[in-house]
Amino acid sequence: MIRHYGYVKQTDPEVFEAIVAEENRQRDKIELIASENFVSRAVAEAQGSLLTNKYAEGYPARRYYGGCEHVDVVESLAIERVKKLFGAEHANVQPHSGASANIAVFFAFLEPGDRILGMNLSHGGHLTHGMAKNISGQYFEAHGYDVGREDGLIDYDDVAKKARALRPKMIIAGASAYPRKIDFARFREIADEVGAILFVDMAHIAGMIAVGLHPDPVPYADVITSTTHKTLRGPRGGLILSKKKHAKKIDSAVFPGTQGGPLMHVIAAKAVAFKEALDPSFKVYQQQVMANAQALASQLLARGLRLVSGGTDNHLLLIDLTETGVTGKDLQEHLDAVNITTNKNGIPYDTRSPFVTSGLRIGSAAVTTRGFLEDDMREVADLIADATFDFDGNRGELIARVAALCERHPLYGDWVYA
Ligand SMILES: *Cc1c(COP(=O)(O)O)cnc(C)c1O
Repeated sequence: MIRHYGYVKQTDPEVFEAIVAEENRQRDKIELIASENFVSRAVAEAQGSLLTNKYAEGYPARRYYGGCEHVDVVESLAIERVKKLFGAEHANVQPHSGASANIAVFFAFLEPGDRILGMNLSHGGHLTHGMAKNISGQYFEAHGYDVGREDGLIDYDDVAKKARALRPKMIIAGASAYPRKIDFARFREIADEVGAILFVDMAHIAGMIAVGLHPDPVPYADVITSTTHKTLRGPRGGLILSKKKHAKKIDSAVFPGTQGGPLMHVIAAKAVAFKEALDPSFKVYQQQVMANAQALASQLLARGLRLVSGGTDNHLLLIDLTETGVTGKDLQEHLDAVNITTNKNGIPYDTRSPFVTSGLRIGSAAVTTRGFLEDDMREVADLIADATFDFDGNRGELIARVAALCERHPLYGDWVYA
């Protein structure tokens, strides 16, 4: 199959070369960033389509511009498919990103100064859940709940205690660096007790939720957001799900509340990705993502590394490097040097700064897409352990072992440039 960059190659060689270099990087390195994935060719094709030319402010059959009959088909398909995928009453597929979806939810439900309670960023939460420098921390009175110091699990008693004391208008459940299942029913109980809105941000775990491999927030949450590009394996973007009674409020909060024209080429790619996620093969993929995370976890533990919470129930692991003498920054740099891409990440109760950290966050979603199985994941764990305990001694050998793994599982195998 030929991947055409003929025009950009001609007119703009600088951008062309950077695109090709990036595509080669994706192919030749092991991608362990837990929030990344590789889209299908169909998703890439739809996103690269000329739908980017169309202005379509408004919603299907209620647009402010003419000529929207075809993009209406595309957006309606995306909405119907994602509602079916998650069993949701209402869906908005226009948010440009996860952060944009969250801003729209705040705009729909909150007034400036309202109190919100989300997971502490340093314990695995997301910056849009109340971080001081984010709009969520600037415009609202944001408070955080913690994970337990010993077990690394969300401390639901802490959530309940803080909710009773603070009486927040909104409680946010969802995380960016949490390797365990989230008990949405328990969050609902707490929200009901204090009369709070329950907002679930399932950005990382949406793929597993879609196929029933993670507890379902839909019956419990007033409103749910997600990214479409993490375990859901669609184009970069966001979405919002809700009960029907909130439909109008949410749609108005997205447009005209916080966004202008929707990205119709991205919405087309979302529709394609949702169709893929409705196919039985997507469940097999998610099962493999989780089996691969398990294989990675058990071999890391066998090699003497520690994991926050002792393991994982999803696609994500957080390595606790406190006792290794290596920081998160060191290990990220060492792995980069041998073509393994990861991110340093604070661990709960970390004593190091966010620029150094005592942790490394890794995930299995992307490598599973390129065909890695359990044996490959055990090899990946060995690579990480070897880089942690004796980087200088192992460096040359690690590069060769990474290349061997990448060759065994080619990414976009027969795509060539033209
Ligand atoms: C990734 C993530 C987001 C933000 O998504 P962007 O598309 O990067 O804006 C929001 N919430 C959570 C929990 C995330 O993990």
